[in-house]
Amino acid sequence: MNKKNKQILLVSPRGFCAGVTRAVDVVLETLKTYGSPVYVKHEIVHNKYVIKDLEQKGTIFIEDVENVPSDRPLIFSAHGVSKKIVHQSKNNKSIVIDATCPLVTKVHVQARKFYEEDIKIILIGHRNHPEVEGTMGQLPEGSIYLVEKISDIDKLDFNRDDRIGFITQTTLSIDDTNSIILELRRRFPNIKSSPKEDICYATTNRQNAIKAHASKCDSFIVIGSENSSNSNRLVEVAINSGCKNAHLLEDASKLNLEEYNKANIIGISSGASVPDILVEEVVDKFEEHFNIKIEHAIYGEENVSFKLPKELRK
Ligand code: SF4
Repeated sequence: MNKKNKQILLVSPRGFCAGVTRAVDVVLETLKTYGSPVYVKHEIVHNKYVIKDLEQKGTIFIEDVENVPSDRPLIFSAHGVSKKIVHQSKNNKSIVIDATCPLVTKVHVQARKFYEEDIKIILIGHRNHPEVEGTMGQLPEGSIYLVEKISDIDKLDFNRDDRIGFITQTTLSIDDTNSIILELRRRFPNIKSSPKEDICYATTNRQNAIKAHASKCDSFIVIGSENSSNSNRLVEVAINSGCKNAHLLEDASKLNLEEYNKANIIGISSGASVPDILVEEVVDKFEEHFNIKIEHAIYGEENVSFKLPKELRK
């Protein structure tokens, strides 16, 4: 039987960002230096494949830092942690290694700066996301006001001329965040912001790349885990940019090829916590059933990298 022709548009930048690469390297280097097991507070990055691989190598992912044996290393995930967790870990005398992405730390620093200058702080982000919990936990409870959507601005008990500043989660939708910021600026004309964008370069590049190419595609696949904020945002961007048939896919084992029978052009990208092997496996599965032609849709190059924490530098 003749295989149907399909075109696959591999969109980039995609996959691992500098913060995720560093966080995974921190775990691998800690295993090398201290042996197993090593403990990680929360999933080091939100991707099932990465987590399973690190578990097999001797990593134990935990939420409660109190249970970490004091002679074993404890790593904080790329999303960052609250000051309370830092203090608990130090009291516990664990060997603490911080894999918080430097771009998340930058937001923490800005929050503290606003606080010291007596500026009321608004954080635009998603409630219960570990990065948001970590950022809010940099300061005493009640110091940061969370805004998830425009209607939350109504709940702020601020006056127009109060000293106010905003920061954001690093992995938000650029467009949704801009609408919230526009409304904040309308209501509080003197509102201050971080000197540089808080939404990180990787989130921005992956969203812009999809924005530029999604409308050409009949279907769009974003490879990523359900709990990955940046991956979920990429699906929304694909839909909003003109490809209504866009979905999040964990990996090739979840791919239902029948859904792509009618699609001629299939776009593929992946979240910032996704290793490229998962993209390759999805492409391979398409190749088994269809006659595929691969086109690379490159939006730009990335050359960002971060040093390992000082405890692990040789
Ligand atoms: S998505 Fe951005 S903020 Fe998050 S780990 Fe990657 S570079 Fe850092």
